[in-house]
Amino acid sequence: MLDHFKNLILFPALILALVACGQDASVEHTSTLFVFGTKVEITVRGEDAKKAQDATAQLDQDFKRMHKDWHAWKPGELSSLNAAIADGQSLTVTPFLKPLLVQAKTFEDLSDGLFNPAIGALIAAWGFHADERPKGGLPDFELIKSLAAQKASMQNVLINGDIVSSTNATVQFDFGGFAKGVALDRAEQTLKAMGIQQALINAGGDINTVGGTSDKPWQVGIRDPKSWGVIAMLDLKQDENIYTSGNYERFREIDGVRYAHILDPRTGMPVDHIVSATVIGEKGALADAAATALTVAGPNDWHRVAKKMGIKFAVLVDDNGTVYLNPAMKARIVFNPDTKLKIVESSEL
Ligand code: ADP
Ligand code: MG
Repeated sequence: MLDHFKNLILFPALILALVACGQDASVEHTSTLFVFGTKVEITVRGEDAKKAQDATAQLDQDFKRMHKDWHAWKPGELSSLNAAIADGQSLTVTPFLKPLLVQAKTFEDLSDGLFNPAIGALIAAWGFHADERPKGGLPDFELIKSLAAQKASMQNVLINGDIVSSTNATVQFDFGGFAKGVALDRAEQTLKAMGIQQALINAGGDINTVGGTSDKPWQVGIRDPKSWGVIAMLDLKQDENIYTSGNYERFREIDGVRYAHILDPRTGMPVDHIVSATVIGEKGALADAAATALTVAGPNDWHRVAKKMGIKFAVLVDDNGTVYLNPAMKARIVFNPDTKLKIVESSEL
């Protein structure tokens, strides 16, 4: 286990899929795609190379459509819907997009509004609707204050059959907080439909798995957000997925202060306490939304929000190197003995 930690520190991904350590690597095929602004690794186990290649090609095509049509600000179906809402208009949506709107509503409710995918206007006001890290001085705080006061929410959104409208014109959808989870859930279904029984899809540290047996579990590492080392490792059980939300990869720096790309919808301000939240769940979409919500909830409230969202395993790290986790997570996680972290266990979850 210790050797694993040493090797892991060299890897770039936030959470690392360890696919070959002492295992029969010959039956695994790993390919890499670049989509959603990140590297997506697909590992297929126990199939021939041709089947693995076909699966990867299919996922590549699917992911490209998702990237386009679920994009918050580049031309595609979601940005057309955003334009219509800003105009006070309704729009008919396709079955490709509608399920995300429905899930977005559910997750916002479940998280008591901490996960709020209707705050795209606030995210844009902070400069995060750009491929590059935003530069320049402070954002327009008057605008931010006024947008926060208008409380854009999925609760303002009406879905009538396929027709979508909003009673609040400041609603702008930004599915960046859970789109990867939805994408990986769909990819998982596609792999299963192709007859693939064991696979791992790693999208920049957010991971869905297919299958995985107790004698050969998928093993993943959790990276320390500050020093980029691996703080802990764990084995995923059959079909489990793991998602991390972090303020440390995407942020804007003004006068030496880092402003995270995850906002507290109640204030419109970036989250400033938690640097990463990692959640294990059976559905990628929920785990992804929950990781974002727990980042917002912070050290005092995360267990309540996790419980409400049906999350059983969570670990959070703050910028002082304190780790918060629940007993069920603690029982299955192996901390790197080299890292000096203060561990705070919350039995409230
Ligand atoms: P990461 O990108 O590190 O995986 P997340 O899954 O939390 O982290 O996604 C962050 C993205 O979610 C932001 O870039 C933004 O698009 C969106 N977002 C920011 N704050 C919220 C929030 N409170 N609720 C829902 N989505 C959010
Ligand atoms: Mg998320």
